[in-house]
Amino acid sequence: MTESEGVEVKRLVYFLRRVLGNPVTRSVVKKLGSPKQITKLLGIYAGVEEPSNRRERFLSSMISKILSMSASKFGVSEESLRNGLRDAYMRRGVANVLLGIAYYGITRPQKLYAPFMVVWDFTKRCNLKCKHCYANASPFPAPDELTLDQKLEVLRQLDEAGVAALSFSGGEPLMSPDFWVVAREAAKTGMYVSVATNGTLIRPEVARRLKEIGVRYVEISLDSPNPEVHDSFRGIRGAWERAVQGIKNSKAAGLEVGIATTVTKINYKQLPDMIRLAKELRVDRFIAFNFIPTGRGKEIVEMDLSPKERYEVLDLLYSELSSGQLQAFSTSPLYAVVSLRGVDKGGKLAPTHFADLRIPEEYLSAGFALGEFLGGCGAGRIYCSIEHNGNIQPCVFLPIVVGNVLKDGFLNVWHNSELFNRLRDRDHYYCSFCPYRYICGGCRARAYAYYGDPLGPDPSCEFNEKLWEELVSSVKEEQIAVSH
Ligand code: SF4
Ligand code: SF4
Repeated sequence: MTESEGVEVKRLVYFLRRVLGNPVTRSVVKKLGSPKQITKLLGIYAGVEEPSNRRERFLSSMISKILSMSASKFGVSEESLRNGLRDAYMRRGVANVLLGIAYYGITRPQKLYAPFMVVWDFTKRCNLKCKHCYANASPFPAPDELTLDQKLEVLRQLDEAGVAALSFSGGEPLMSPDFWVVAREAAKTGMYVSVATNGTLIRPEVARRLKEIGVRYVEISLDSPNPEVHDSFRGIRGAWERAVQGIKNSKAAGLEVGIATTVTKINYKQLPDMIRLAKELRVDRFIAFNFIPTGRGKEIVEMDLSPKERYEVLDLLYSELSSGQLQAFSTSPLYAVVSLRGVDKGGKLAPTHFADLRIPEEYLSAGFALGEFLGGCGAGRIYCSIEHNGNIQPCVFLPIVVGNVLKDGFLNVWHNSELFNRLRDRDHYYCSFCPYRYICGGCRARAYAYYGDPLGPDPSCEFNEKLWEELVSSVKEEQIAVSH
């Protein structure tokens, strides 16, 4: 899908929200059925599926009318809409938005029927020993890792729920032989399948196999343009060389590739060189991961950036994003705030960890509303994580277990978890005073890591500088106490 087609579909989602907000349309959409049924109706509209009976024929004509009316009313060409919906991943995403609005109405930020994206920490096994590892990974499988049959059952539940994108992470997902079976099945459902990996195992034949089973995006971690810095962070000599080779092999196999860099005081001054390297390697995306002191990261808490340093990083990323040369993102929800300031000047909006929108001039006033729809931190609202044993958490970096897929049922937990429901209500966060709370919301994992409260302050932002200074002095006091 081209960028302009993507923007049109995103614009349509924004306008569908306005059209579908009324109670009559919401009750009609609820009657259309489950996420899978709605996805099929959208496929019929796009011309890639056939109705199997009279009911489907009738319902597909109804959904066609709603989509055609919305498209013409808001200047989206029907052809580009149908084109966008030919991708099964887009159909799954739009069905989820339709049902989210039908069930919850218009909310700020928007609540969804199922997570748009799930990150699955597929295994705890890993061949590296990274200092900032949130998973405390090791070379051996955890005793409670799911069996292959159990993993396939998890996938079946995600498919039924209508999850649009599934990212395999870990540990190192490529260390698990089950990965190849489960990822292939996931791609067959039409989900957007991606892999977050250290890249060291991606030999040319592995890259080709990833492409062949339907993986669409590979995100490879690289901490520095300097091999020695990366290797010392990753705990293994030669890790940088192999990761860079993994990037080249993935590109050569025709995969979309991103570089992920966890930004700390050690490497943040090297970011311009990292971005240069990302461009030389011709990757499609560069993502600066927000450092979160959880897992082994707790031991290097003093490496966290100050609010001022973090804004420097975000400004640098945003200027790259705006230049159009590199899709540069951050997992800090503050990136949405930084990007919002650029939208008025014709720049892009980056309201999630993985999407950017160039808002057409005639719809600039929609920019803020669309940002509030997507809403910055997605934990427990448009995204969640699953651990190697089937446990469900709001985010890979936020280690609070709210249920287990096999014991409690995925969708049941998504709809009924008390913590998830609290995370969806920004007016009860520490951030409730802030005008950006619906577009940013702060990183809930950082709030939990620093204050033990997932609704507490994220000490990253300009409003919380005093809190940051208090944290710095308390860390210094602890270090002095330990050294005596
Ligand atoms: S107070 Fe919260 S919502 Fe506002 S900018 Fe800071 S982290 Fe974001
Ligand atoms: S808690 Fe939210 S902002 Fe933080 S890493 Fe997770 S999804 Fe991103």
